[in-house]
Amino acid sequence: MNVIKTKNIGFCFGVKRAIKMVLKAAEKGERVFTIGPIIHNPQMVELLKEKGITPVDDVYQVKDGTVVFRTHGIRKEEEEYVRKSGLKSIDTTCPFVKRVRKHARNLEKSGYQVVIVGDRNHPEVKSVLSYLDNDGIVLQEPTTFAAKKVGVVSQTTLDKGTFVSIVKELIAGVEELRIFNTICESTQIRQNEAIELSGEVDMMLVVGGKNSSNCTKLYKVVHKVQPNTYHIETVDDLRPEWFTSVSRVGLTGGASTPDLIIDIVEGRVKNF
Ligand code: SF4
Repeated sequence: MNVIKTKNIGFCFGVKRAIKMVLKAAEKGERVFTIGPIIHNPQMVELLKEKGITPVDDVYQVKDGTVVFRTHGIRKEEEEYVRKSGLKSIDTTCPFVKRVRKHARNLEKSGYQVVIVGDRNHPEVKSVLSYLDNDGIVLQEPTTFAAKKVGVVSQTTLDKGTFVSIVKELIAGVEELRIFNTICESTQIRQNEAIELSGEVDMMLVVGGKNSSNCTKLYKVVHKVQPNTYHIETVDDLRPEWFTSVSRVGLTGGASTPDLIIDIVEGRVKNF
């Protein structure tokens, strides 16, 4: 089997930075707790657990040790709890996520109704909302409403097509619209490369956590252009019958997928 990988594959800048920061603390012997998994990749989370980096459901469970503010941000009240309890903290919030937060706050200060285009259940969106003084509006699909001043930001892991279609629909009812495209470049680059590659192969494999918004979106955009696309977490998810009339396979992975998992998948697929 001929396997072609996208150029940008494996951990993004934000994830690499976060892993480095928590490993450094764990190496010093600190007890490190992350609020939820530090990245949406179950295999990597298991590996980190072995090094003393433990995910907990919520910050209020942590009574001592070091709390990690995850790459896609924690809620303001959680941050305040950590400060007030005197717990140590490591802020691995990705600078691109902080940029979303900054734009949203500035828009609010300038009198705009803040709209966040994204998934209202995603930790990043919850985090950005929590740093606003007033209620922000979260849009997941094209909607029109009447308003004077609206300021828009996007969840970093959103696909560009969704963002554009939602913003287009807003124009009709809004007098003044300010838009910040805060989609992370890493996400866009990965999606573009994967779409391009999918036209050159018989099948695409998207490797990454099923709980990763980044990987799920990557799968969706690729599946649109290449229906013969599968989202797998590890080599164990591969099915030999997928490869019966296939000779060229495209391989891509989300920002939270470890290189090692991709390498193992690549090796196995080559042998089919
Ligand atoms: S996907 Fe982008 S925003 Fe998210 S952690 Fe990686 S670099 Fe940061």
